[in-house]
Amino acid sequence: MRKSIVIFMFLLLVGSLFSQQRSPKLIVGIVVDQMRDEYLDRFYNDFGDTGFKRLMRDGYRMKNFHFNYMPTYTAPGHASIYTGTTPRYHGIVGNGYYLRQEHKGIYCTDDDSVNLLGNGDPKYGKMSPVRLKSTTVTDELKMSSNFRSKVIGISIKDRSSILPAGHFADWAFWMNKDDEFISSTFYGDKLPKWVKLFNDKKYYEKYLKRNWSLLKDIKEYDESLPDRNPYEGKLNYQLEPVFPYNLYDEYKKNGASIIKVTPWGNSILVDLAEEAIENENLGKDEFTDFLALSFSSTDYIGHAMGPRSIELQDMYLRLDILLGEFLEYLDKNIGKGNYLVFLTADHACGENPNFLRDNKLNVTNLDRKEIKKDIIQVSEELYGLNLLETYNNQNLYFDSKKIDSLGLNRGEVYRKFQEKLEEWRFVKRAYVESELMGSSVDFLHNEVANGYDVKQNGQIVLLFEPGYMEYWKTGTSHGTPYGYDTHVPGLFYGWNIPKGINYDKHYITEIAPTISQLLHITLPNSSKNKVIRELLK
Ligand SMILES: [Zn+2]
Repeated sequence: MRKSIVIFMFLLLVGSLFSQQRSPKLIVGIVVDQMRDEYLDRFYNDFGDTGFKRLMRDGYRMKNFHFNYMPTYTAPGHASIYTGTTPRYHGIVGNGYYLRQEHKGIYCTDDDSVNLLGNGDPKYGKMSPVRLKSTTVTDELKMSSNFRSKVIGISIKDRSSILPAGHFADWAFWMNKDDEFISSTFYGDKLPKWVKLFNDKKYYEKYLKRNWSLLKDIKEYDESLPDRNPYEGKLNYQLEPVFPYNLYDEYKKNGASIIKVTPWGNSILVDLAEEAIENENLGKDEFTDFLALSFSSTDYIGHAMGPRSIELQDMYLRLDILLGEFLEYLDKNIGKGNYLVFLTADHACGENPNFLRDNKLNVTNLDRKEIKKDIIQVSEELYGLNLLETYNNQNLYFDSKKIDSLGLNRGEVYRKFQEKLEEWRFVKRAYVESELMGSSVDFLHNEVANGYDVKQNGQIVLLFEPGYMEYWKTGTSHGTPYGYDTHVPGLFYGWNIPKGINYDKHYITEIAPTISQLLHITLPNSSKNKVIRELLK
């Protein structure tokens, strides 16, 4: 009798374990725009126990986790994380890029066939994932459940919510100029009622009234440069880069969109995420749901202030607290062990070149317009006229018709330009189309090739020497295949994720196939499908 009870209990336990193991209730994919891996270590002693440290302590950390292509920008980054492949295959080769055959520049999520849902300028709603050519892990999750899983993307930036949520998403929401969340008719006929109610509550006013002062005593920010330093730009192009910031006055003068360049841009995103979980019943039934969150304020502040500003450090300390609160919310509402979180970034960022130069590393920032002018000058010296159609994202797009009509050999023209451009002090290599379509043993060549789509890139791609940056004198940017732009956090936590740390080099394109294998669903359709084995034990 007692024995049978024990056996019965044992079977019940095995049964419950098995049913729990089959699939998580909810996956939360978190992208922190422009976050470097090194922030986890540089700011470690200032973090609390509940946010980043909880993920590092109780989850799995890929410590040498990288993007494997150029251009390391926001749209390619989000597309690559979720498709498990690189721009060469998924087609998102920039935030905006040029279509060779159509001779026009486009934005990565442009879609004229759909319309705005919500308020504001109609053009910010003409958006969808129509240009994303591969399936995402979120797409495969939808199909695997016969479309019963729910997928929602949320970000301030349109591209950062639309691309992760994929082609079959229930919703993607992004922010308009007035801090309201909007969407497009790609997803539905009208904005859900709960989003309208959310917008009506004007959370941004509450946040902007808080203004922005330092979380801790200024002495605690000794991992960063002094508050006022020559490498910072102005906040929102208006405010001197010194604490405390009077955000409320700035909002009254120039509108609510300033929230994007403050820590409160992250807070309002989590507010909406929690509303989404409750109102869309995420994580409530047996079909795994997916919430794709992307924090953009980290990128806006990074661009304006640079990676060594106390503004950036303060924002990460506040994000750490926010993350802790959100994890606690998930514990309560989805249940500890029932959800899986991954946290990474869409790219990292370089050091401000003038900061490097002042510290004796002789690099400079570069002016895109000057470079374009100089390329045209090369053309005029070589051929007596301009053969360049456009210069964009370090790509040279040539006017092929003009080249043909002059009776010139296209390949010969590109090689002549290559020779000239490689004489420039800041150009490491100028790769010609035919080289990028072939193979190489040079890892930088391969990373440029991984980002190269022959229909949407130029006939020549410039790779700058490390440290140079096509950007303003202040702040920072990204885009190269060098470690400072490719090295991002790789944190995995929760359902079926072991504890541990791994120092081997891994790529962010391994996230989507690994999640697919964990869930036993079809792999995204253009991925090399290399997985992170340590997470599948
Ligand atoms: Zn950026």
